[in-house]
Amino acid sequence: MPDTPQTTYKRVMLKISGEALMGDQGFGLHPPTVQRIAREVQSVHEMGVEICMVIGGGNIFRGLQGSAQGMERTQADYMGMLATVMNALAMQTALEELGVHTRVISAIPMDQVCEPYIRRRAVRHLEKKRVCIFAAGTGNPYFTTDTAAALRASEMACEAIFMGKQVDGIYDSDPKTNSAAKRFDDISYDEVLRANLKVMDASAIALCRDNKMPLIVFSLDEPGGFSGIVNGEGTYTRVHA
Ligand code: UDP
Repeated sequence: MPDTPQTTYKRVMLKISGEALMGDQGFGLHPPTVQRIAREVQSVHEMGVEICMVIGGGNIFRGLQGSAQGMERTQADYMGMLATVMNALAMQTALEELGVHTRVISAIPMDQVCEPYIRRRAVRHLEKKRVCIFAAGTGNPYFTTDTAAALRASEMACEAIFMGKQVDGIYDSDPKTNSAAKRFDDISYDEVLRANLKVMDASAIALCRDNKMPLIVFSLDEPGGFSGIVNGEGTYTRVHA
């Protein structure tokens, strides 16, 4: 038997929120947490899986919150997109320190900082086993990084989106406040929309459903969680079209 765990996945998208990078701080970046997640990515990379990543920006700035406080929405959304670039650069640094070659690819060109998004070039990076971190969301206001993950996963022909959360799947109510909350093993996108379950925003769900992109929601807090889930182990919820 080979030492390296086997997986059937060739190319996946990992989506994490910006909040996943802030540790217990309540704001910003917590480098040890970024490094811990980078090690999770490294272990899946070592399995030979091609990895795309989208990281949110909510640990720094969310457009909706800015606009609720009186800011112009579009401008606030651009600030949110820039926050995702900061998170992407932090993750790139952590991955490269582990020897994992990485490209940050931004939907908003900023050539001195990272690469612009060119689909075929990104595909080439993946083929060369470089982790591609897609930054600046979709490049458009009024969207979220969930939609960016759904879009890039489809464009890159990923086999699934892995959504790392602080809980091990989708529940019918919040398991942190309701000990009787029930976790779904399997659920359809239509059911998620119908029950208004807080998984991704509705446009991201619709995009995944229409493109028949499976979504696997798992806990990123468990050590070895990502590699285990990619191997089909552990607890998670699988959302299908
Ligand atoms: N954003 C945007 N367009 C996009 C993606 C993101 O305008 O395509 C902005 C939006 O303001 C959002 C912020 O970037 O609030 C941060 O992204 P998100 O809220 O998705 O981050 P997460 O909640 O995953 O940390």
